[in-house]
Order: sequence, then structure tokens, then C-alpha cells
Amino acid sequence: MIAPDLETGAERLAGLVERSEAVVAFTGAGISTECGIPDFRSPGGLWTKHAPIPFDQFLGSQEARDETWRRRFAMDETLSKARPGRGHRALASLYHSGKLPGIITQNIDNLHQASGIPHPKVCELHGNTSYAACLDCGKRYELKWVKDSFDQSGRAPECVECDGYIKTATIAFGQSMPPAAMQHAEELATSADLLLAIGSSLVVWPAAGFPLMAKRNGATLVIINREPTDFDDIADLVIHHDIGDVLSRFIAD
Ligand SMILES: [Zn+2]
Repeated sequence: MIAPDLETGAERLAGLVERSEAVVAFTGAGISTECGIPDFRSPGGLWTKHAPIPFDQFLGSQEARDETWRRRFAMDETLSKARPGRGHRALASLYHSGKLPGIITQNIDNLHQASGIPHPKVCELHGNTSYAACLDCGKRYELKWVKDSFDQSGRAPECVECDGYIKTATIAFGQSMPPAAMQHAEELATSADLLLAIGSSLVVWPAAGFPLMAKRNGATLVIINREPTDFDDIADLVIHHDIGDVLSRFIAD
């Protein structure tokens, strides 16, 4: 059912959380918009101005690698200033109360970890843009190192160990999904008795399959999103209101 208003939706959600033992959250861009992070896919979003650079182009030319890094550095002011919002803090409170075994996220902004949830409990389907790694040997690089190196040489640096290409630890278009994260997401989805799909339009696959997997496995499915989603019809509760407003009552501190 679609909640007729914010208060009714939030009350029903509180009842469902109360009765659940394993609440798993599946989060998308909508949970981070109140933190100042734009939804790249939204009209007027970054990706409507610059089409994302596909993975094969990144691999294929120095120019594409340089441009990818220039764009990442241009976003750094926004990304490094962002702090967890009410939705992140509410989920962190549920985690600390023992109710929430983990989060599956489409976001790359690191804000669930910044809210106090340990890194291994956050399953990042599309990676993390707050650090970088060598595509060949996996060596981790901090963004500051990449920026300093870029500023000195004028070009995207290569790995000091193996000369491999260094890229943010995100999954680019055309790059295969990370097997460990996919496995972790499946474990979380099938262990949930309540799945909260928050701030995702549920159109990006295979990520969107996890709420569906939870529902088919018997979990109660709640969708909290400003806009309607393709899964509204199968959800047990749909709340079309502001995520922070809906979730703020779960913030413990
Ligand atoms: Zn390397």
C-alpha cells in the first residue's frame, strides 16, 4: 500500500521495524541528496552535462584517463565536504541497536561509513569514490597522492608498483560488477526479514534485483522514495516522502 501521508507511513514503518529481526537497507542517490551530493542521473545532474566515460575508453587512452581524473577532482569540493544526512544517521542507529546486519548501497560517496557503520557491513555495488586503486595489482592510492602526481606531470599517474592504471575504486559503465560485493549483497538480501529500499528509483540493474530477491525470499519490502518506482506494486509499504523526514525518528542520538 502507498502511505497516504508522512505520519501514517512513518508509523507503519516503525511498527514493521519493531517486529523485524534483520532489517537490511538498500540505498540509492536519494539518501544523499540532502547532504549536497547531486543525483548524477537526475535531469540537470552531472551526467546530463557530461556523458560518463565508459570503462573501455578509460583503458583505451591517456586522454580519457586524464579527463576522468579532471572530472573527479572537479567534484572533490562537493564530495569531501558532504556529511551523513538524517537517513544515514537513522540507519547507523538501527545498526548500533543490533537490528540491521548490513547495507547494500548503489552510492559511491562513503557516507554510510562516515555515519559510523563499519566498512565490511556496507556492501558497495558500485564501489567507492573516496579512494583509488590500481586496476592491475589492486594497490590502494589516496586521492591526494593522485592529485599531486597529476598536478606535477599533467597526466593521470600509473601504479608505482606495476605501471597499471589507477582509477577511483568505483565501478565504471562497462566495468564488470565486483563478485565479492554481489555475493555479499545476495547474502544480505536473503537474510533480511525486512528490506528498506531507500532513495533508489530501482531502475539500475543488476543492483535493483536485490530488493526483488529479498521480497521473493519472503521479506517485507518497504520503498521510501520521492518518486514512484517500478516496484511500488509489489511493495508492502510505499512512502513517497522526503527520506530524512521519514527516517529521522529512528535516529537514536
Ligand atoms: Zn599496480
